[in-house]
Amino acid sequence: MFDPCVHPDVGAYALGLLEPDELAAYERHLRGCADCTRTLAGLDPLVQLLGTVDAASLVAATGAGMGHRFPERPPEPVVTLVQRPRPAHPYTRRLTLAAAAAAVVVLVGLVTYVARSSVHTPVIPLAEPPPGAAAATATTAPPPRTAPASNRPAATTSPPRRNTGPEPSPPRRTPASTPTPTPGASATDTIKVGPAGGNGNAERYDGSDPATGTTAQVEVVPTAAGADVTLTLAHLSGPREGTLLAVTTKGTTETALRWRIPAGTDEVTLLGGTTSKAFERFDVVDENGRVLVTIPVNSK
Ligand SMILES: [Zn+2]
Repeated sequence: MFDPCVHPDVGAYALGLLEPDELAAYERHLRGCADCTRTLAGLDPLVQLLGTVDAASLVAATGAGMGHRFPERPPEPVVTLVQRPRPAHPYTRRLTLAAAAAAVVVLVGLVTYVARSSVHTPVIPLAEPPPGAAAATATTAPPPRTAPASNRPAATTSPPRRNTGPEPSPPRRTPASTPTPTPGASATDTIKVGPAGGNGNAERYDGSDPATGTTAQVEVVPTAAGADVTLTLAHLSGPREGTLLAVTTKGTTETALRWRIPAGTDEVTLLGGTTSKAFERFDVVDENGRVLVTIPVNSK
């Protein structure tokens, strides 16, 4: 199977940390290695970033992140480079080199892993010099350190993917001071009655029957004795009549109001009341005792 080159000096080279002899040797390798050329091109934006980031903390942060995201593939190149003997350097510089180079190679490992594992990652080879110009290019021109933006693998610069699932819906509760028209009903045929309008204590709950399209909205305003309840029914062809049952959090049931929709209309707003303040739900019940719409209340 195709196994791309992951050269141990690519990180140090990208950071300009190679000694002259190492630099010459690596550049000789680089001229013939499309993998390293590609890796360097993909690393370029990250190397720019590293100029403003503390290398040691980046190693720690990236290492922790990879442990979480790629548990099955530890970045072997990191071990290779960090353990690579560099006896010529003073101790403190060795530490700096190891940390900085490891930071880059962690990213190299990340890039390589993403490139290997994703068939969608575009890996576009950099343009090869024409054969006739190869000799001159090889001796004079520096290797390409920056690729055009379109050649950078998108995966190397994308932020971590976040959960894109639907956010949990908050309880449907709208202050009555900002009334919204009943869905499907025009503003002009929504009749406002009762004390709920303009009352900051009012809470509004909605329910609908997906089978019939009937919608019901209940506004609850606490009172000294219990609560005022306003019901708006829509998309229910008259003549119909029934009751609005309030099911309390204690499990008891009260009739909050009786409703009637005359023939020729399909909407009504009515005011009633209960002696309770805390509700589990409201049920719109028809003349036959059948529940037409349930309006859940999520007040806890
Ligand atoms: Zn290489």
